[in-house]
Amino acid sequence: MSGFSTGTRCVQAGYRPGNGEPRQIPIVQSTTFKYDTSEDMGKLFDLEASGYFYTRLQNPTNDLVAAKIAELEGGSAAMLTSSGQAANFFALFNICECGSHIVSSSSIYGGTFNLISVTMAKMGIDVTFVSPDASLEELDKAFRDNTRAVFGETIANPALTVLDIEKFARAAHDHGVPLIVDNTFPTPVNCRPIEWGADIVTHSTTKYMDGHGAAVGGAVVDSGHFDWMAHKEKFPGLTTPDESYHGIVYAEKFGQGGAFITKCTSQLMRDFGCIQSPQNAFLLNLGLESLHVRMPKHVENGLAVAEFLKDQPKVQKVSYPGLKGDPYYELAKKYLPNGGCGVVSFELKGGRSEAESFMKKLKLIAIETHVADARSCCLNPATSTHRQLSDEQLSAAGIPAGLIRVSCGLEDKEDLIADLENALG
Ligand SMILES: *Cc1c(COP(=O)(O)O)cnc(C)c1O
Repeated sequence: MSGFSTGTRCVQAGYRPGNGEPRQIPIVQSTTFKYDTSEDMGKLFDLEASGYFYTRLQNPTNDLVAAKIAELEGGSAAMLTSSGQAANFFALFNICECGSHIVSSSSIYGGTFNLISVTMAKMGIDVTFVSPDASLEELDKAFRDNTRAVFGETIANPALTVLDIEKFARAAHDHGVPLIVDNTFPTPVNCRPIEWGADIVTHSTTKYMDGHGAAVGGAVVDSGHFDWMAHKEKFPGLTTPDESYHGIVYAEKFGQGGAFITKCTSQLMRDFGCIQSPQNAFLLNLGLESLHVRMPKHVENGLAVAEFLKDQPKVQKVSYPGLKGDPYYELAKKYLPNGGCGVVSFELKGGRSEAESFMKKLKLIAIETHVADARSCCLNPATSTHRQLSDEQLSAAGIPAGLIRVSCGLEDKEDLIADLENALG
């Protein structure tokens, strides 16, 4: 849908029905697909023709929704995965193997931190974590001969740091490797990392894209901008023959815009099977249809709550990149001119016990591990996700015991503020 703006793409991109066809995306609830001859099917297995044969690899409903997300991000191709975790794993593992190395921002989602630093380490893939605020010189020092990718989050969950995408892209490209950006929190409505130099974009669609707490899912988007053949020796999986598909070379056969996602589908989805169910893809698409209407309201509520909290005597500190005085305010102005997201974090002066009694008094904002839902929710890491850590360990990890993360939903901001005011009282 070139020529149309983001909002219009949210509503109509991906699926353009023909005469007499269903208006809404059909849910193709079928594990398998029928063919007249084994020759016809053989062409699919050889990647000579495109089509469907088994929903562990590809499904038409998923592909329509992935095409919408590709258009929203300004990418050349995309695929849906069963979760955000699977999306980040696929994006990295599609170009890394035993003996590879990753440079990653240290300010990332805990699940991704664990994936890279523990599970991928067991596969022989090393990582060097760098501060999201590192200078270009400091970033340069983190690279090795075997570095294959740079990773970061546009707005990090839960630290709410903002990635200087242009700087990270420059460091990656100076070393001949792609930048992968997890764009879950701003969504393409508020930031399109490809426009700033990112090569691959990932999502936990579980968050704002679905937006209704209904379906876990993920997405990987390729910009089509990274020239794999120019760095042939670094990416043999894309630039040398794949024996499991009769020796095709992805970057030659599918070109710069198609190679990454085709390889990811035909190898990783085939072997790991982390596919999103077509039912969930349908629900995700319902969320996408209103994403551009919902995001400004999440931002409006997030900013109102951040501004309210910063003047409260019991509050030590508020983090929200859209708030004047926040360390990431300038970066947010550049990369997120329409605001970032509805997630705000703040620290209560009274620590763990104050946080506990505050959360007990909330009536509207619910205690959940989720974020980015239509319904507001909050979490105190010290008494939930990080409860095994002592107060000392918590502050060493940059998560003070009194820290609360609140995800502002779509309710009216006056009611959210009244709920917080009452719980603070
Ligand atoms: C939640 C989240 C993930 C993981 O996604 P799941 O869908 O829960 O697997 C990855 N990155 C970010 C930024 C997230 O917020």
